[in-house]
Parts: sequence; C-alpha cells; structure tokens
Amino acid sequence: MTSINEEEPEIVKGQIRVGISSCLLGKKVRYNGGHKENDYITNVLDDFFTWVSVCPEVEIGMGTPREAVRLVGSPDQPRMVGTNTGTEWTDKINTYSIAKTEKLKTLNLHGYILKNRSPSCGLFRVKVYTETGMPLNNGAGLFARALSEGMPYLPIEEEGRLNDARLRENFIIRVFCYYRWQELISSGFTIRKLVEFHSRHKFLIMSHNETAMRELGKLVAQGKSYPEFELIQNYRDRFFNAIKRPSTRNRHVNVLQHIMGFFKSKLSPQDKIELLTAIGDYQNELVPLIVPITLFRHYLRLIKHDYIGNQYYLNPHPKELMLLNHV
Ligand code: SF4
Repeated sequence: MTSINEEEPEIVKGQIRVGISSCLLGKKVRYNGGHKENDYITNVLDDFFTWVSVCPEVEIGMGTPREAVRLVGSPDQPRMVGTNTGTEWTDKINTYSIAKTEKLKTLNLHGYILKNRSPSCGLFRVKVYTETGMPLNNGAGLFARALSEGMPYLPIEEEGRLNDARLRENFIIRVFCYYRWQELISSGFTIRKLVEFHSRHKFLIMSHNETAMRELGKLVAQGKSYPEFELIQNYRDRFFNAIKRPSTRNRHVNVLQHIMGFFKSKLSPQDKIELLTAIGDYQNELVPLIVPITLFRHYLRLIKHDYIGNQYYLNPHPKELMLLNHV
C-alpha cells in the first residue's frame, strides 16, 4: 500500500484512457470541415489522459464536409435526418453506435468526453424537432445514448459542462476512481482488495454521499456471504452512483471535521486552531479547498497516520490539475 506520505505518484501519465469526440481534439471532422478544439482538453487533460478519439458521423461514412443533421420526432426515439434534404441516417447511426460501444468496452476506457449539442455526441438537452418544426431541448445524441446505456458506470461528461468547476472536478475524480476500480478487477478481485479499496475511498465517498458510504461499508463487511459476481456488481453500482452526485461545500466541511477527529489529540492547541481556521475559511468561501487539504497533508506528514494518510480524499488526482483551487 502506498501512502501520500511517500509522495509517490500512483498513476503514471497516459495509463488513463478516455474516449472523446474527435472534433474536441482539433480534428477537422465537423459537418463544415472545422473542429471544436477545447483548450482545457488539449492543453491540460492531455498531459494525463490517453485519448481514444471517435467521430461517429465520419465513421458511418457521412464524409467531411457534409450536410448538417438534426434529430426529429419523439425525444425518446428520435430519427436523425439531413437538415436540408431529410436524408435518413437513423438506422445507420443506431447500428453503428451499438457496435461501436461493444468495441469500446474491449478498450478498457476510464471515461468519455462528448461534444455538447451534437445530434450524435450530445448527452443532455440536445434539440429534437417535433412534427411542427418546433425544437425541444430534451434529447440525447444517438451515439451518446447508446454509449451511456451500454456502459452505465463509465464516467461520461459533456465538454461544455467541464467549464463548471464543480462538474469538472466531479468528472475527473470519477475517472480516477474508475481507473482504480478497473485495476482492482483486472489484477484479480479478492475481498481483501475490495476492503482496501473501500477503506482508502471512504472519505471521498463521504464527501459525496454519507449514507452510501455507510451502506457500502456494510456490503464490504458482509462480502463473504455474497457470490463474488454479485458483490462486485453491487459494490460497483452503489459506489459509482454515490460519487456521481457532486460534492458540496458543507459535505467537504463535514469530511474535514471527521478527518481532524482522527488525529487532533496529537496536535498542539495552536495547530488545532490553525486547522479549524482553515476549515472555517473554506466554509466561508474565503479560501479554496486546497488550503485546508494542504494543511492536513502537512500535519499528516509529521504525524504519520496511515489510515488517514492513505485516503484518496486528500489526494484524489494529480495536483497539476489544480481542481481543488477554486474558491
Ligand atoms: S460532435 Fe461528434 S459527430 Fe460531430 S464532429 Fe464532433 S465527433 Fe463528429
């Protein structure tokens, strides 16, 4: 078991594989021959992720440039047609999307970033035109729908939502958790490994959903009474469901206070005041989360408390991503 006290990076750049809409990487695959390069993706995330780039519309042979398409009909089961000519693409994109999702399952992805608003790649609030020609903003792109249904536990996010600091942090935390979960499974599942996984993620889960953290703890404690397949599926379902909900400032404060309870007896009165002040400043939106977290790491280096020192909550992703730095 490695500890943050050893300051040893656990994840080497490039080990994490993330699927992505090709146009977000700057590839000129859009209907108009252009791209939609996203600077955060190509300048920041690119240092940590290996991309698996997919353009569904190019892969079904629509060519570039091409006629723009849109979704029409019922938002539950829309058709995809050419905007001007009405050319039907529905069967082709649906068949492709199911087959492509099966192929992607074999590539051991840890996350997926989709282009928003696209009739193929958009995940939320994609326009679907009704028979009267009125657009409703409540559809999903046909590839995005097949992907999210075929791989329901894969962290998937839209590029536009990555501009929101909370959603961005939540997505990246889920990607790193999924990577660790896949490592646990691919290295040969044992209950001992599940106990360690849960133990190290305990406060991270708590920062999203305290009830789920307790339920998962019970599940792990009773792990031997379940068939292995059922245990893996149950834990995975509940864990990734729990952390899908973004954390809040109050939940972080609750976690920080809990963590402090584990080692406050070893702190001097002055140190305790310093930690409580940092937590209070974070609660009052005066400093970002990284401030109390850095102070906790500092004291844990001095105190060497293994259980707390090994918590992913204090070290959820590479510091270069600076995800805890927003106030
Ligand atoms: S949004 Fe999807 S289908 Fe459209 S250009 Fe980008 S990758 Fe291709």
